[in-house]
Amino acid sequence: MTTVIQGCAVATVDAAGTEHVDGHVVFDGARIVAVGPGPADPAVTGDADTVVDATGCLVTPGLVNTHHHLYQWATRGLAQQDDLFGWLTTLYPVWEGLDEDVVGGAAAAGLGWLARTGCTSTTDHHYVFPRDGGDVLGATVAAAREVGLRFHPTRGSMDLGRSQGGLPPDTVVETTDAALEGTVRAIDDFHDAAPGSMLRMGVAPCSPFSVTEHLMREAAALARERGVRLHTHLAETLEEDVFCRSQYACSPTEYADNLGWLGDDVWLAHCVHVDESAAKRFAASGTAVAHCPTSNARLGAGIAPVGVLRDAGVSVGLGVDGSASNEESSLVTELHAAVMVARLRGGPSAMSARDALALATIGGARTIGRADELGSLEPGKLADLAVWRVDGLAHAGCEDPVAALVLGSRPPLSRLVVDGVTVVEDDVLLTADERILTGRAATAARTLLERSRR
Ligand code: ZN
Repeated sequence: MTTVIQGCAVATVDAAGTEHVDGHVVFDGARIVAVGPGPADPAVTGDADTVVDATGCLVTPGLVNTHHHLYQWATRGLAQQDDLFGWLTTLYPVWEGLDEDVVGGAAAAGLGWLARTGCTSTTDHHYVFPRDGGDVLGATVAAAREVGLRFHPTRGSMDLGRSQGGLPPDTVVETTDAALEGTVRAIDDFHDAAPGSMLRMGVAPCSPFSVTEHLMREAAALARERGVRLHTHLAETLEEDVFCRSQYACSPTEYADNLGWLGDDVWLAHCVHVDESAAKRFAASGTAVAHCPTSNARLGAGIAPVGVLRDAGVSVGLGVDGSASNEESSLVTELHAAVMVARLRGGPSAMSARDALALATIGGARTIGRADELGSLEPGKLADLAVWRVDGLAHAGCEDPVAALVLGSRPPLSRLVVDGVTVVEDDVLLTADERILTGRAATAARTLLERSRR
């Protein structure tokens, strides 16, 4: 099945930053076979199964979301003015009521909205496993298969409850053994290491204030034995920094380093409160960072030093973070947010529109270990791409389509292609019925809130 998309601007985000004012992209099945200026070779167009005239559009690589908690779609709009610890303390008791139906409904809506807003690959970090909650991870995987996004879920965990000096109530943490057993099961059940994989599993104990050192070490050993990636939250807030110094007598970065949690198989969410020496340590070890500007702003956590990290040579991707700390949960909006917060911190030259696009595409692909297959439009890479309409009321007349996408308002999505399959067309999700997803999400949120009031 050969598809030609042409008549549009193309931002390839390849190593040379190649762009075409008027260009084409051709893919055959799940792989890109040609990208270039002007129309595609007439011989190719003549034999193609589908030829799309994308006049007025910009084609980019599909966006890669490097940090999310999809279940939080069911708890948006709560704890609106708390910092991280206050927000978590309010939400943990609500999350105690999670089960596979609630998580499945929340995840399907969250994934549908990611697709509608240009994301082709997403991670998920699920770390709440209530005893009677059923198969919450399986429900999330089923939702990703239904919506059709490339999925890198991580099996999260918490084993440091309040009685042991942690932040979460004991009722939402697991035993260390149960967490590790659940993680082994998740890798056995879902991980696909093959080229072109639509699902790769990761291992992700939650954070320094909710996980024991023992679980951190065991989780790292397990992930490395099984060849899967490691993920956790790190250096998100000043309160976490204070916690680490009082509990472990070191900074969050030193804590991670001491536990063997820096390496080219690790990506860390946030890293707001890190200095130049931490950035150098990340770069030397190959550790990547998921930057979540909207969530950091929503919780008043601070502005991550993305310029310092990138100057040091750290791979940085963008993430929406969980929907309870980012009700918008659309990755394209994070490009805009990343530019704005970088410039608030470092001035007008701190981040360009193209820098932001690179973070959300090739940067994200590097962060999740898929830069050989994802993140740029080049022959041989997977056919994951977004076609943005930039000729409407919000964008017409903006000469630079990349500026229209990043600095302007979120454009309509003409088409989203994942693994060669059209998932969205003219802002309509083709793989699932949006009205059904909406109903399931509303039911999930209502159910959870009712349980929390009992
Ligand atoms: Zn998070």
